[in-house]
Amino acid sequence: MSQFGVKKPPLSAKAVLHQRYGDKACYKVEQVLEPVENDCPGLAILHHDRVLYRCHLQLPELSVTSEKFTKRKDAEQSAAKMALEKLGIQPTTKDLTPEEAWDELIVRISSLFTDKFSLSGHPIVGHFRAAIKREGDTHGLIPVSIIAACDSKIVNLCKLVNPKAGSDPLLVVSLVLKAARLVNSICVSDRGLWMGKKGSYSSDALQSLISHSTTSTDHGSIEALFIPSSIEKPVETITLELSAGRCYMDEISQKLGVEDSSHVLVSRAVGKASSEMRFYFSSPRCQLSCPDLSSSETPLHGEEPLNLLGSYFSGQNIYGDAVLATVGYAWKSKDLFCENVTLSTYYRMLLGMTPDGCYKLSREAILAVKLPSSFTTKSNWRGHSPRDLLCMFCRHHRLMEPLFSVKELPAPSGASQGLDQLKSSEGLGVFACEVKILSKQQDPILECLGDGCKKQTDAVQKAALSALSWLDRCFKRLCVPLEEPSSSSSSSGSAQQIRVYPERFSQELAHCFAVHARRPRERDSPRMQPTQPGLVSFRVEGLESGAPPAVGSLVSISYTISLVGGAEEGSRQTLESRDELEFELGTGAVIDHVEACVSQMSTGQSAQFTISLPSRELVLAASGQSAELISPLDLRACSLEYSLKVLQISEPNEVRMEQALFSPPLSKQRVDFAMGLINSTSATSLVDFGCGSGSLLDSLMEHQTTLEKVVGVDVSTRGLCRAAKILHAKLAKEDSPVGSSIKSAVLYGGSITDYDSRLHGFDVGTCLEVIEHMEEDQAGLFGEVVLSLFCPRLLIISTPNYEYNPVLQGSLMAAEEDDRGEKSRTAPCRFRNHDHKFEWTRGQFERWAVDLASRHSYRVDFGGVGGSPGVEPGFASQIAVFRRCASHPAEAGPTAGAVKLYEVIWEWPS
Ligand code: SAH
Ligand code: MG
Repeated sequence: MSQFGVKKPPLSAKAVLHQRYGDKACYKVEQVLEPVENDCPGLAILHHDRVLYRCHLQLPELSVTSEKFTKRKDAEQSAAKMALEKLGIQPTTKDLTPEEAWDELIVRISSLFTDKFSLSGHPIVGHFRAAIKREGDTHGLIPVSIIAACDSKIVNLCKLVNPKAGSDPLLVVSLVLKAARLVNSICVSDRGLWMGKKGSYSSDALQSLISHSTTSTDHGSIEALFIPSSIEKPVETITLELSAGRCYMDEISQKLGVEDSSHVLVSRAVGKASSEMRFYFSSPRCQLSCPDLSSSETPLHGEEPLNLLGSYFSGQNIYGDAVLATVGYAWKSKDLFCENVTLSTYYRMLLGMTPDGCYKLSREAILAVKLPSSFTTKSNWRGHSPRDLLCMFCRHHRLMEPLFSVKELPAPSGASQGLDQLKSSEGLGVFACEVKILSKQQDPILECLGDGCKKQTDAVQKAALSALSWLDRCFKRLCVPLEEPSSSSSSSGSAQQIRVYPERFSQELAHCFAVHARRPRERDSPRMQPTQPGLVSFRVEGLESGAPPAVGSLVSISYTISLVGGAEEGSRQTLESRDELEFELGTGAVIDHVEACVSQMSTGQSAQFTISLPSRELVLAASGQSAELISPLDLRACSLEYSLKVLQISEPNEVRMEQALFSPPLSKQRVDFAMGLINSTSATSLVDFGCGSGSLLDSLMEHQTTLEKVVGVDVSTRGLCRAAKILHAKLAKEDSPVGSSIKSAVLYGGSITDYDSRLHGFDVGTCLEVIEHMEEDQAGLFGEVVLSLFCPRLLIISTPNYEYNPVLQGSLMAAEEDDRGEKSRTAPCRFRNHDHKFEWTRGQFERWAVDLASRHSYRVDFGGVGGSPGVEPGFASQIAVFRRCASHPAEAGPTAGAVKLYEVIWEWPS
């Protein structure tokens, strides 16, 4: 395939912003309900609102709100475009040349030390306030590193002057210093890396700086982390004293053992969007005196060792010991913004850098879930979508936003139209998507082709998930595969293809692998064998209330996970607990033990089991505030105890089963079946009982028939509304083949157990897959009403054949490569859809229909779709065809009396 050739695409507005602001560009998308205009004349009931999206984009210096769009994505791009316009950045025009950027940098720096700027709400102003309060020879001066870290314009201009500046805070400092020396109104101190305004501020500006600084509140102390330069040494919690008047930079410099705060370098912000979490580290002594750092090609840091963790999280060169703290001045606020950074924060950040961890965090279930191995449908996926997870991964690792391209697959040749086509593979589909992961320089790192499927949006998710799964395996093995991996895949018959560019891959993710491989995890907890699910005994309690859930079911559980068996006898500490966690069984969305346990349970039952500890960092990430209380020594003796309860089981969706296994889908086969009868009887009127969203009526209009009048009845107005729109669109088309024959169409709201004389004596009545949605007595009542009052000449009733369920479920499991073996395959089956009130065997259905027909002067024959006649266990959908006998009273002519219980929902022509 040629799609692997990479062209550099033009950057989208969002991508341009992302390059400049990274996580500081904060998008919030809101849903807006908008009443839909009446595009369907004659529809008598209220239209449903349509959902639109509006995006609020917050950047450090401005915020914008987009117009409303039908797609989330478009709203985001539009907001990004608006922001770019406001910022005067044109994505299409070329960036500034290094020379132009240098001039701009000087202008920007000189503008910082003006009265006007000191009245703005810029975060740097907070440092001005601190500076004018400081006594001694640094009075009024602020560390150059603050200027270099806290103004995104400066950072961006520096990057244009020297692209390496993006990953090197020291280089930015040196560029800022160099530029500042060229500005007359700025003084640069000879000792240390300070700068300040030559001459004094106007009294207004001074007044505002002073008055604000005196109101600043006392922050007491906050927790921060000390990250030693050696990754072998443990990360420790430290306390920063921020009592009123003490500048946080001074406190941090002391913790780092640096002479004054001007020698503290500051990284870019890390962690979640709009956070002020940064690494602080000491600037190497000698280099800054050297006159022209910015153009020097030699490494700036000489002998100083790289701080691997700091560099990994920030994507910048961090050297020596570092402090990680969330502290800083916020925009337009006089107060210091600060927050504790705990050990748990750190372990969560570490976790969030891995594909699996990202998912765990998105579900707030670190110890219970894992990255699912397959994506079935959007409605069954929980947590961030694979696509969003992949985008997060790329952002965290400072890669380009992944590029997705969906393509339509050629139609499978020789698709037969017979009755029993159980598709051999679920992998067949119409769309497939390829995802490309590119470096910031837009060179490809990884390309991955996802499985085919029926929906474009699903194709995107599948491609994203296969890329994530591959990355996850890579992280778990902690190695960069040098060979192109064989097309290993999670589901059968899939056509997944992955191409890695090993050199670039290891280059881009070098820190990442170094960090994950070299953390001192095995030293502080004995290497324990993970407990095999097969060896765990699940202590299940409570009465069995039915069959265990089948693969594809949505299971909802509550659970608590505790650390047990520490030093103290009987000690127990809750690590993670959820009132409700929902997941699709069979997709590997929860850890193996939970999945294996739940597969044996029924609704209402509880279970308990104990397994050995996963890695220490996972435990600490889950432990939240209490991470500091867990001693590494204690952990050696601990295990994890899971207690869970099954709250609810929703059986796999009927439609999904039918679509996966029948071609054409069963619904189409039912329509074809009805069509055959309609044509053979030259019917001119038809009523569809329980028409839903009108799939039958819609299909009828696709074909040339003898029908002149069609009617649909349903209790669901939502379904009828959709039906009205579909039918209106069809009928309004001038060149449609139906225009000639169909003269009227009506949709009624009402229950088919009620009689309405307007539907008396039609040629054909259809009632497809409806009766099982009613209670059995109501289905019986409908039978009586339809044959004694509506009296169609021909009536077609279809309903699922219960005996066919094992075939459906068995094949579905085979298609999903269920490796849990015989047990679940022979497990008793429940209904195909949770809305079904009953499902009848062939015997039950035939007895009901024969009895009904005989009491109302009808003849009845049986048939079906899906499966073959005479072959066990019969058809997937069983169908009864009732024909009115000559002895029926209706044959004598219309009965008197008008009963109008139905409400006209839509009528054509209106
Ligand atoms: N016949 C359609 C829809 C089947 S789904 C098709 O084949 O696609 C079942 C439908 O029965 C739903 O739309 C539901 O609203 C409808 N239904 C259930 N009970 C009903 C009742 N008492 N009267 C009318 N419709 C009913
Ligand atoms: Mg049904």
